Amino acid sequence: MTTTIACPLCAADIAWEGPGSEDGLGPLTSELRRFCLGPDPHAGAVVLCGDCGFASVAKRVTEGDPGVDRVAQDPLWCSLDTMDDPGDVASGVGDEAVAARVRRLLAVGVGAGGAAVAWEHTAWLAAWRGDGPLACGDAWLRAAWMHDDLDDAESGRACRQRALACYEAAVELPESFRRRHDQAVVAYLVGEIARRLGDVQRARGAFEQALTWARSEVGLKSFAEVVIRQMEQPVEILEGR
Ligand SMILES: [Zn+2]
Repeated sequence: MTTTIACPLCAADIAWEGPGSEDGLGPLTSELRRFCLGPDPHAGAVVLCGDCGFASVAKRVTEGDPGVDRVAQDPLWCSLDTMDDPGDVASGVGDEAVAARVRRLLAVGVGAGGAAVAWEHTAWLAAWRGDGPLACGDAWLRAAWMHDDLDDAESGRACRQRALACYEAAVELPESFRRRHDQAVVAYLVGEIARRLGDVQRARGAFEQALTWARSEVGLKSFAEVVIRQMEQPVEILEGR
């Protein structure tokens, strides 16, 4: 069911299809994407304003996103339309390259890509306001999944490359994680995304790191078996069909 929520930045109406299904009964991919029988929860988990381009995880918007004020007060946000392209991407609040990228995304039209574009905007804005590499990696990986659903392999690959770089940075920052368990899972994701991108050496190194951490933690035996399988005889779907 479509509901309307107010953009926290510019107050325009955003049509939102709702959070999607939570039944968790569908297959689990090797990138740990869980499909549901009902509407895709990853498509419904994000909102995008067609007026100003603001995007965020839907839950943050519906619960009052504390990062919104920070974006709204950033003079770069206000000058998106007038900036020249300063070059490649970096991260951090107020970063001009990220702002320029957001502006370019807006220029191609926010209505075209649906959830895929919404997740891309979420990733750029997360980097811009300094949410950290883990949040950025999660958003890029979800953008890749949404592109997969549109059979846009090239965009999916580009988003995976960005997710990979973010997750690699996150793994190097133990403070990004509440538990070693989560750090091991993200190291595994680095391996799995690199494997899907055809970077065998990078995948191997990350899988080995994930395995070392998994073996040092109690309760990760079956996870360690998944890592070994993806190293030796990889599959695309871990569970279900
Ligand atoms: Zn807006």
